Amino acid sequence: MSEDGTLTTQLVLLADDNEEMSTVIEDMLDFLGFEVAVARDGRTAVEMAAANAYTLILMDIEMPVMDGLAAAEAIRLREQADLTPAVPILGITGHTDRGTHLLCQRAGMNDVLTKPFLMVQLEEKVKAACGARLN
Ligand SMILES: [Mg+2]
Repeated sequence: MSEDGTLTTQLVLLADDNEEMSTVIEDMLDFLGFEVAVARDGRTAVEMAAANAYTLILMDIEMPVMDGLAAAEAIRLREQADLTPAVPILGITGHTDRGTHLLCQRAGMNDVLTKPFLMVQLEEKVKAACGARLN
């Protein structure tokens, strides 16, 4: 709710090249009350992030054209250059190892979700990453 009592839409950018996976995640986000925009590769995600104000970005690590790590780095560089606030970025990966998580952190991501995940796990990470942005 915004101050005048109207409903505000929270828009999430979901970047994932796997259509089946992203359909599942889209349904979860929809259930949690988010509008979802989808990108199928990292470069498109970077372009969309520059053109729109998202509440959150969910970024698959392994994507064609530009992977999720490079895309997150590009988004952080552009935010620094433009002096715009950093949008929360959650990485999505099938890898559970610490190395992958460190790479995500180094690329500027806030946190990582390991596939497959339950809606409650998604909700928890989204809330932690977005904090006050969700009101
Ligand atoms: Mg992928």
